[in-house]
Order: sequence, then C-alpha cells, then structure tokens
Amino acid sequence: MNRFRLVCSRCSLTLPFRYNEMKCACGGTLLVDYDVEQIARTFTKEALAARYPTMWRYKDLLPVNEPDCIVSLGEGWTPLLRMREWERKLPIRQLWIKREEQNPTGSFKSRGFSVAVSLLKEAGVTQAAVPSNGNAAGALAAYAGRAGIKAYAFIPSDCPPLIVQECVQYGARTFLVDGFIHDAAAIIEAGKEEQGWVNVGTLKEAGRVEGKKTMGLELAEQLGWKFPDVIIYPTGGGSGIIGMWKAYIELKALGWIDGPMPRFVCVQEAGCQPIVDSLAAGGQAAAQPAGVPASPTGMRVPNPPDLELILSIVEQSGGTAIALSRSEIASAVETLGAQGISASPEGAATWAGLLASCESGWLRPTDSVVLFNTSHALKYSKLASLAQLPTIRNYRDFCNYWK
Ligand SMILES: *Cc1c(COP(=O)(O)O)cnc(C)c1O
Repeated sequence: MNRFRLVCSRCSLTLPFRYNEMKCACGGTLLVDYDVEQIARTFTKEALAARYPTMWRYKDLLPVNEPDCIVSLGEGWTPLLRMREWERKLPIRQLWIKREEQNPTGSFKSRGFSVAVSLLKEAGVTQAAVPSNGNAAGALAAYAGRAGIKAYAFIPSDCPPLIVQECVQYGARTFLVDGFIHDAAAIIEAGKEEQGWVNVGTLKEAGRVEGKKTMGLELAEQLGWKFPDVIIYPTGGGSGIIGMWKAYIELKALGWIDGPMPRFVCVQEAGCQPIVDSLAAGGQAAAQPAGVPASPTGMRVPNPPDLELILSIVEQSGGTAIALSRSEIASAVETLGAQGISASPEGAATWAGLLASCESGWLRPTDSVVLFNTSHALKYSKLASLAQLPTIRNYRDFCNYWK
C-alpha cells in the first residue's frame, strides 16, 4: 500500500497522490495524507535520533519516494534560541526564537522548495515558475539550480533588490512585475501551458506545505517532543501555518506528542492584513485596501489562496491575528539586531506581535512562546544606505569627523 495519498481539507475527498494541481473540485485544498500506522512500524524516535540534522531526517513524513531525487542544500535543523533575559522582563514563562534565517537561502523558504523541487525531479519536470515577493523565488532558483531544472521567477518590482539579485545569481530567469504577487501569479497561469511551466506558487503543488511542516516536527523534537503553548508566525500565503498544523496532527497520530495544539498567532503588516480582518469579520474574507500600502515583504499577500483553511486552523487552535505598523516592525528589527539576531521585517514582526500580545494581556504568564525569524535582515538591505556612512582614509580623518 502507498505510504501517502491526497485528502481535501474541505470535503475530505481522498485521491491517489499527485504532486501538482492541489485544488479540489469543491474549491478546497488537497493535502498529503500519510498512512501513519504503516509509517510508525519503522519510524521511531530511536531511529530518528541517529539521523543527520537536516529536515530530511523526517523523510518518512515527506512525500518523496525516490531517495536519489531528494534535492538538498542542507536545510532545516535550525537553532532554537532561548531568550532568558526577556522571559524575566515579559509576563510569559518561556521564550524562544527559531532561527530560520540560517537556512541555505537565508530564509525558511528553503524547506518548502527542497521538497517541491524534489517532487519536480521525481516527476521529470524540466521547467518551473513561481510568483514571489522574493524569498520563494530565491529558494526555487537555488534548488532548481541544484537539480538542473530551469527556474522562472516573477517578482513585484518594489521587492528587496538583493533578493532579486540572488535569483539571478542562482541562474533563474528573473522578471520584475509591475504589480503585486497575484499579478505575478496571473502571468504564470496565462503562460504555463504554452511555456511548459509547472507553477510552484503557494498551495499549487504538494511540496511546499510538506517542507514547511518540518518546522513543526523539528520544533517538537527540539523541545523534547512537546509543542510550545504559542507560536507567533509572520503569515503571507499561509503555507507555514498549514504545515505546522499538519505536523501537530501527524505527531499526535504517531503518539509522539499529546496535549493541546499550540495557539497560532498570525502577524501581518497593517495595510495588508486579510487574516486579521477576516477573523475580525467572523470568518468572512475581507477585501484589502486598493494599492496595498504594506511594505514588500513575504507577508504582503492580499489574497491568500485558501484563507478559509488558515482561519479555521487559527480558530481551532485558540489563536489570533495581529496587524503591526511599519514603525513597530522597524523598531523590532533594531531590538533584535541589538541582541545579535539578524531579523528580516517578517521575523521582527513576530517580536512586535509578542510585545503587543503581552501588552493586551492575550498571552498568559504560564505561556511558552516560540517566534519564527523567517529570514535574514541582510537580504532586505538597500546598498544605497552606505552613502550615509562617513568615509575616511586614515585615523586623522576619523578624529576630524568628530570635531
Ligand atoms: C514567504 C514568507 C513569509 C510568509 O510565509 P507563509 O508560510 O507563506 O505564510 C514570511 N516571512 C518570510 C521571510 C517569507 O519569505
């Protein structure tokens, strides 16, 4: 019997596995469904302990059958950093930061694309395309490069230039799009048949959610097979929330964990906050302001492909969603930076969300909390800012500078 199949998250229809086209006829999203009983016969905590520290240590719960098709650059098993000083300052019990910026492409998108590109390789696909605010494009570019697959990246033109540059460096055919991520997605949908592209956009194929699921598996393992009470996660398309929810369900089915699901807190930047607004509207999809005033980050996704699924996970978990202002996020980048942690605006938004939910009293004094630093601050730097720094030739210039 097959180790996995697909199941619709909305109508529960089951189908044999396919790597691509994840929309069910009912409009729901197809997700990979594992035969946990069969897997549990050989996949044990003891077997796991001896494995190499990358996310492929969880290969039994990943949908790639052919070991030779695994495309890896050393992703996953990122540090979980304890923040003891802040545990004393804030009204919570424990605080950790999951350092996802240490992945091979400088963001957690490495995880999703390691699985997605492995599935492409297994299926013999030669060309793939992605609409992206940057990090997904960089990850597709890197993993496709490693696999010998041609990558096409379509990125809104206001996204961070260094991330775009990185795509070019990894050999992707890279295009700037005058518009938002959904405009980039429309280009791929319009051209995919003629061009022979597989669209590896959010929830278009099976691998990215499964790859992000390893964040949840890993978190539980690093905490001694326990989930924290609260996970604060910068949310865009939502594949990370869906993935970590799956991790919880599958570990529970294996009998490796028990206890309640972690409360998922989605953080977004004000000006693009579909999850925050829809939760506030009792689950009704809320239209976002025209022009989408939020900054170009991974959280800027005005129309997540399955908003209903994200909302249902957040609600089931007893979680919430918070919109943070640009200035709250900017000061969180500084706060984390001053402690030696390179946090992108998305990663820093989790810090701003932490402070806001301490302030509002939403977090409890008994809570253990994990923040996801999803990307590196450096990828968002603008080189032009160097012009503000003093330039000197020698020590006398240095002294003169202070006069
Ligand atoms: C893509 C991205 C996000 C959003 O992740 P989803 O799982 O798609 O919601 C958050 N942070 C960064 C740095 C990203 O690149």
